Amino acid sequence: MATLLITGGAGFIGSHTCLVLLEAGHNLVVLDNFSNSSPEALRRVASLAELPPATQQQRLRVIQGDIRQPADLQQAFTAASIDAVIHFAGLKAVGESVQHPLRYWDVNVAGSRQLLAAMQVAGCRTLVFSSSATLYGYPDQVPIPETAPVQPINPYGHSKAAVERLLADLAASEPGWRIASLRYFNPVGAHPSGRIGEDPNGIPNNLFPFITQVAVGRRQQLQVFGSDWPTSDGTGVRDYIHVMDLAEGHAAALTTLLGEPPQLLTLNLGSGQGHSVLEVVRALESASGRRVPYALVERRPGDAATTVADPTQASARLGWRTRRGLPEICRDGWAWQQANPEGYASAPPAG
Ligand code: NAD
Ligand code: UDP
Repeated sequence: MATLLITGGAGFIGSHTCLVLLEAGHNLVVLDNFSNSSPEALRRVASLAELPPATQQQRLRVIQGDIRQPADLQQAFTAASIDAVIHFAGLKAVGESVQHPLRYWDVNVAGSRQLLAAMQVAGCRTLVFSSSATLYGYPDQVPIPETAPVQPINPYGHSKAAVERLLADLAASEPGWRIASLRYFNPVGAHPSGRIGEDPNGIPNNLFPFITQVAVGRRQQLQVFGSDWPTSDGTGVRDYIHVMDLAEGHAAALTTLLGEPPQLLTLNLGSGQGHSVLEVVRALESASGRRVPYALVERRPGDAATTVADPTQASARLGWRTRRGLPEICRDGWAWQQANPEGYASAPPAG
């Protein structure tokens, strides 16, 4: 059992990972500024983990604060003796990063630098970092191994690549760092209870939440970006990973880091399976019993035809692989969307 600082723990991936870590017996301190999430997510995590009220404050402490603020970081590191950090906090919208690169370099890069400086002061040198398959850009080979060139094509991808570089420099500069950079492919789905899930702000940029919002009647139709890609049905192919598999991947990375000598690990977290846009549409229709009307439109600038992970290294180093496929992704994602048509805003007011 360890005491962990989870930055961005109220977000989509963070909330599911918090639940898995609480169920594994760890104590958590969450630092989140709620810029893209709701405190309600963490209330539901506490409820799903069935934390007895007497221990709740010790098991799950929530600090509203910003990773760029040294005083907020200090508060987090003095709330408890932190054994390791899982660093989810960041901005993740590709289009926004093109419009506002300074924001992305500020939150993702300068924020991570600030966090690492606070870890040094606190004497904590174990970190799991949320990286992204986006840093492979247009991949030269599919499935993509970790040795593929890092060649991001947008400011978001550059910000992730810059943090990976910083982590490598830091690990080389002083002994003792245990670091895992986890390159996620396409995280989707929800906890099977349907009580926590993805709650994007405004119109979703990503395929999966867009489709579930069409199925629930919040949006009229899906636009399928391109039907002339060199894929089996002409639509884009991605490696969709159930968020619970991803959460379990973080727990496995933590166990490996804490149980082995100091090291820097860089691993893909994906399933190794690709699915086209139309396959996802059909799977969601089948899980929901609803129709998902769609129109075939132009390709979206910046998209690649196919992005699929080679997950061999994660399996070898972590003893982890995905256990849930597209049917489970759609079943659980739909359960969340149906029970929470407006996301966490569907919740009755607290108290
Ligand atoms: P999310 O937006 O749901 O979660 C991020 C959390 O960080 C939110 O709760 C937000 O309020 C918080 N946050 C943002 N800026 C902060 C700051 N300055 N200080 C403190 N908290 C802050 O996103 P997510 O999908 O859960 O992604 C988590 C991480 O994984 C991000 O770093 C993201 O770049 C990375 N990632 C996500 C995906 C994806 O498709 N979801 C894919 C690859 C990598
Ligand atoms: N996509 C689509 N319509 C949408 C959103 C996405 O056709 O409204 C396609 C997109 O072109 C890609 C796939 O769905 O082929 C996954 O896109 P997403 O934005 O979810 O992930 P990413 O492109 O970042 O891998």
